[in-house]
Amino acid sequence: MNELEAYVKDAERLGFFAAAPLDMCALEARPEIRMLCAPDKCESYGKTWVCPPGCGELPECAARLAGFHAALLIESKYEHVDTGDLVYMKVLAAEHNRRLLALRELVAREHPKVWFLSTGSCEFCEKCSYPSAPCQKPEILRGSVSAYGLDVERICESAGVEYAFAAGTVRYIAFLLI
Ligand code: SF4
Repeated sequence: MNELEAYVKDAERLGFFAAAPLDMCALEARPEIRMLCAPDKCESYGKTWVCPPGCGELPECAARLAGFHAALLIESKYEHVDTGDLVYMKVLAAEHNRRLLALRELVAREHPKVWFLSTGSCEFCEKCSYPSAPCQKPEILRGSVSAYGLDVERICESAGVEYAFAAGTVRYIAFLLI
């Protein structure tokens, strides 16, 4: 079993619904995805270090991605969810984040510079310090897939991982980079 296959097993043990090694070419920074991070399209715009403009321009993000040599796709999936119950949605997001941090800790033993991107914004502080002070937890700061121009649906398809929308189904997708 190679290293990425071992991390897939770790991810499954931690309760992720799916995990799969990714071809780095799949992590293409696409302007049309980044355009979704606009003030009139996303309420997180300008509110965190991981969203534009705090995360930098798309070419900077692409250059950051190019600094990694391997990636894993991981997915948390929940069914029969009342997506209007925002309190419960927060519980699910927190569970996904806990798993991400647990996997990060495992991978960091071999790869101290391991990094994650995930759907949504960074949720590791009650209130992000952007823009008045530096990131409070730079070691676990979680990048935003849309800010990096990553087309989640296309990437899932390339990795053979399910990503279909259905009423009451919630999916969180993340990319682990080493
Ligand atoms: S770790 Fe905290 S301060 Fe840093 S980007 Fe995330 S929420 Fe903001």
